[in-house]
Amino acid sequence: MHKRRRIGVALLAGFLIAGAAPRAGAQAVAKLPQTPAPVIAAGTADTSALAKEAEKWLADLIRMNTTNPPGNEQAAAKYIAGILEKEGIKPELLEAGPGRTAVVARLRSAAVADPTRALLLVAHMDVVGVDRAKWTVDPFGAVEKDGYLYGRGSVDDKGMLAANLAAFIALKRGNARLNRDVIFLATCDEEQGGDASIKTLIAKYWDKFAAGFALNEGGNVTVKGGKVQYVAVQASEKVAVNVAVVARGASGHASIPTKDNAVVHLATAIAKIGAYSAPARPTAIVRRYFEELARIEDPELAKWMRALDTPDRAEHAQRVVSEANPLWNSMLRDSIAPTMLAGGVRVNVIPAEARAMLNIRLLPGDTVDVLVGELAKLVNDPQVKFEVQPDAGYAAPPSSLESELYQTIEKTGAEQFAGVPVVPCLSTWATDSSQLRLHNVQAYGLVPFPLTEEDLKRMHGEDERMPLASFAQGVQFLYRIVAGFAAAK
Ligand SMILES: [Zn+2]
Repeated sequence: MHKRRRIGVALLAGFLIAGAAPRAGAQAVAKLPQTPAPVIAAGTADTSALAKEAEKWLADLIRMNTTNPPGNEQAAAKYIAGILEKEGIKPELLEAGPGRTAVVARLRSAAVADPTRALLLVAHMDVVGVDRAKWTVDPFGAVEKDGYLYGRGSVDDKGMLAANLAAFIALKRGNARLNRDVIFLATCDEEQGGDASIKTLIAKYWDKFAAGFALNEGGNVTVKGGKVQYVAVQASEKVAVNVAVVARGASGHASIPTKDNAVVHLATAIAKIGAYSAPARPTAIVRRYFEELARIEDPELAKWMRALDTPDRAEHAQRVVSEANPLWNSMLRDSIAPTMLAGGVRVNVIPAEARAMLNIRLLPGDTVDVLVGELAKLVNDPQVKFEVQPDAGYAAPPSSLESELYQTIEKTGAEQFAGVPVVPCLSTWATDSSQLRLHNVQAYGLVPFPLTEEDLKRMHGEDERMPLASFAQGVQFLYRIVAGFAAAK
């Protein structure tokens, strides 16, 4: 997941987990009800033993520094290929760029070779950078402490990578009779979305992993007070677009200031933009998200969650829900975050130009031109121009909430976590799934490990860590979804 707003995710849970001691947290999760894995015809896979193996894979992957840029995912790809070969599965390395290699492998269904039925297990190998001075452990040391495995990428996204590998290998070891092909894909360059990303892999190698369904990162299993609250399944995502705000003015000696000052034009514009809120437009997935969440939410808030598009009440409902949680606010409308400022080279020189960057996240279906038009009207200053940057994300159709895979996730989630709501979500952050959805793949985002607010907050932050009991739970949850969807009963 790239460029995630840390606080956003923290509030995704919509609850603030106060002071649960790490040791208590990890052990509390361990006590969560465990339901035995389904028996696959012609053999079974004991996920707890496999999860122990996968824990070692995760630790090894953490020790491979795949910070992006530059990425250097090749070592991780070869490591994974080695594990697959040991299982008698033939991997294929896919060149995505210099030193950037993805890896793909396939388990074939004897019965059905139709790629539109195939299931793709996706995860990315690259990680975001670290500020070592702020970490209490070596970010690439895979240090195990208090029931946690610490390390950059332990959650985003090497946990999912190791869990995908475990579920894939469990099918092989269990001699599962597959009703569709299952494909394992480890990608590069997700955090930058650059030239070595899934977009390049699709352009060069689509035939090697074409599928109708996919499981990827993007959602989460939220824990509060040691209990799983709900399972969020990402079925759609907002579209990231960067826009430069360029202000011009009369340059000159700073001792003779005029009103036509580029820095002042810019500051005035940014102040207006910062106070602006685009109109709310709850999408179908967002409406469903709040309807489901209302089941476990405080009744007063639940009432408004159910009224987001009820005539005469919608406006107030949207205000109440938006003010309750910045993430919910961002799920309801196009969002605009001023993130960078630049202007001036010398303190005693008034610059001719000053600029700022806006990180905009559009609701699927909205266009940046309409929003920029609104902002230009709002700023109402001929000295201020807006330049849409070329690196925009892609608006992709949402994945269906009626598909066999979504229903399998829903059913398995409720079984695995004792009846908690399984809610579809529109993520404010981007994942590789948008590219897959553009190729008609019904892609769903999970992070199948029960994680607390505190754990989620550490992604892209300091001391990122995976609770090991949650990891084992996540491996089982993911395997059950994969087996439930792809293995003949
Ligand atoms: Zn990620």
